[in-house]
Amino acid sequence: MRLRRACRCGARTRAGTPCQSPAIKGKRRCRMHGGKSPGAPRGEANGNYVRGRWTQQTIAARGSVRALVKMCRETLRDL
Ligand SMILES: [Zn+2]
Repeated sequence: MRLRRACRCGARTRAGTPCQSPAIKGKRRCRMHGGKSPGAPRGEANGNYVRGRWTQQTIAARGSVRALVKMCRETLRDL
């Protein structure tokens, strides 16, 4: 049966055990534990936002700068 082998929800219950209800399709939590929710808002809309140092955008930008620096170093070393 399809429901039987569905991904199980891992949310912690009040008893301390995992919830084990079938998770929403493509998600890891059941309908009772936020499976339908798209998650917390991104960026400044999130209450925990500080200065934007860790937004996905900033992290990606840092990654590309790092790649550029690495490339420069390698080029310089070859000279
Ligand atoms: Zn659950």
